[in-house]
Amino acid sequence: MPSEFELIRRFFQTEPRRRDVVLGIGDDVAVMQVPAAQELVVTTDTLVSGVHFPAETSPEDLGHKALAVNLSDLAAAGAEPAWVSLALTLPEFDEAWLEGFCLGLRGLLESSGAELVGGDTTRGPLSVTIQALGLVPAGTVLRRSGAMVGDLIFVTGTLGDAALGLSILRGREAVPADQREHCLGRLYRPEPRVGAGIALRGVAHAAIDISDGFLADLGHVLEASGAGARVQLDALPVSAPVAGMLDATGDWDAVLAGGDDYELLFTAPPAARGVVDELFGRLDCDVTWVGTVEHDPEIRLFRPDGSRHVPRRTGYDHFAG
Ligand code: ADP
Ligand code: MG
Repeated sequence: MPSEFELIRRFFQTEPRRRDVVLGIGDDVAVMQVPAAQELVVTTDTLVSGVHFPAETSPEDLGHKALAVNLSDLAAAGAEPAWVSLALTLPEFDEAWLEGFCLGLRGLLESSGAELVGGDTTRGPLSVTIQALGLVPAGTVLRRSGAMVGDLIFVTGTLGDAALGLSILRGREAVPADQREHCLGRLYRPEPRVGAGIALRGVAHAAIDISDGFLADLGHVLEASGAGARVQLDALPVSAPVAGMLDATGDWDAVLAGGDDYELLFTAPPAARGVVDELFGRLDCDVTWVGTVEHDPEIRLFRPDGSRHVPRRTGYDHFAG
């Protein structure tokens, strides 16, 4: 049985790729150079087994997702991923598990250009904490506050796929095999909208990533901005499997409050509409106008016939009874 130190060396210590890493894995601290005129953007997210991911999640998917949810926060800020630290708590030092986990983690590290610079490895119930550090040109970070009355509200990609994936996994929803694959892929392997976030610097008035559910995260933006919104239910972007589920059940909960979407929600003035369409035309990413920021607080949801829709719940809250 290799020692903890051998395992760390073997699985986490790789040749440094970024020249701005002065000191990486292997010392007491990591040291990185922040370029002049850039600001450091930091975020941390923990994934706990059974709470943030189903216990049956493969180690490879977990390695991907633990980093993806953090990069999604950087994306919402318009930051470019640079460095990552990883605190890993494992029930046992299982080599096959670590190999899978590192494969998933490394894939996204490489495609995002970020480098693992340190971390901690401990024994206990499975939990993964990642801290991601990114860079933005000084003064350009995207915030939740800043939405203005009259702004258009946009959402990237589609909503509700991961929530439907979880329902499928739990046997609550039956869909064709290819649709099942799509939804489970979205649940296990979210693709953070990093390029979109960077492109939105100087364009979006406010931005957030949708992790707790569309209504909850739109609510965060509106609260921070001191505003409300009207949203057209039929404008919300959904995939074919979710559209099928909506047709069959009429239940909007997965779309409005399902969570785990890891799409971006942002607001921009009507005059920026053309710029937004042009930016997203160049990115490999769909963007949809779903509503408008209004003065009166609260989110008002409208059906195609103009009647109001009242949601069953608003989103994931870890501390809700
Ligand atoms: P210390 O006793 O100083 O906390 P550790 O033994 O925890 O040091 O870690 C030794 C080195 O390995 C440090 O550079 C630390 O950042 C790194 N490290 C430990 N665990 C991980 C991990 N899971 N991922 C990346 N680096 C890690
Ligand atoms: Mg340590």
